Amino acid sequence: MGLVVVGAAGRMGQTLVRAIHDTPEVHLAGAVERHGSPDVGRDVGELAGIGACGVAITDNPLAAFAKADGVLDFTAPAASVEFAGYAAQARIVHVIGTTGCSGEDEEKFAAAARHATIVKSGNMSLGVNLLAALVEQAAHALAAADFDIEILEMHHRRKVDAPSGTALLLGQAAARGREISLAEKSVRVRDGHTGAREEGTVGFATLRGGTVVGDHSVIFAGAGERIELSHRAEDRSLFAQGAIKAALWARDRKPGLYSMRDVLGL
Ligand code: NAD
Repeated sequence: MGLVVVGAAGRMGQTLVRAIHDTPEVHLAGAVERHGSPDVGRDVGELAGIGACGVAITDNPLAAFAKADGVLDFTAPAASVEFAGYAAQARIVHVIGTTGCSGEDEEKFAAAARHATIVKSGNMSLGVNLLAALVEQAAHALAAADFDIEILEMHHRRKVDAPSGTALLLGQAAARGREISLAEKSVRVRDGHTGAREEGTVGFATLRGGTVVGDHSVIFAGAGERIELSHRAEDRSLFAQGAIKAALWARDRKPGLYSMRDVLGL
């Protein structure tokens, strides 16, 4: 399967280029960066530290998509929306790992998914998706009157959105377990005289610093006891491997908007 990496010079982009190189079922069909990036024209293999591979970074996504079977996209919300349109036009698989997307962006992905097979997830790792399934189960079993749910996450200092896509994915899992709407029940910031905690809410806390790849804990705090379900990502290659797995899974699927839970059969 020929895959194009968009955002190829980014942290995830370079990790994806290395992971494709190490996976026999796929090959690198193209590498795309934003218009004006100093890396346009460079050999993407050299940039990713695996040696020249003969694929130059381009700022023309349409030309790159025309020669590919799928796109791996860990970029930025506006870019992913644009790529969803192009991928639908080219009728190729679009794997989206970008986080921080708005409700309006999500509607555009759903519209593109009428013609394209899209797999989108705030976290592509098996571990986090399994964690989400466990969180849903725990939230269902532990009554809101007895257990408060708080989600704590930490990422590297360059991350631009908060809470992380993974924290929100875990919040959605908790909300499903409790049969509540996360949009109505989430508390994303606390500052000053907030008053006592409202029963049944899901709280988020965000830490940023250093080079942390991604730490998440879901805490169920009861009277006299605490249950904590945690995941620590030590290496970005885990997300890249998940994205490649998603592309291979999606290859022969009907158009639609799928998640990593579908890919992993959880
Ligand atoms: P990064 O800033 O290192 O890389 C993003 C790259 O995208 C940059 O090189 C940028 O130039 C490029 N880009 C932006 N707009 C573009 C456009 N229009 N066309 C082509 N390229 C464009 O960021 P990162 O750490 O690699 O993370 C990227 C995204 O992936 C973030 O939203 C992050 O939260 C998300 N992420 C998701 C997962 C997951 O498993 N779902 C894991 C890690 C990161």
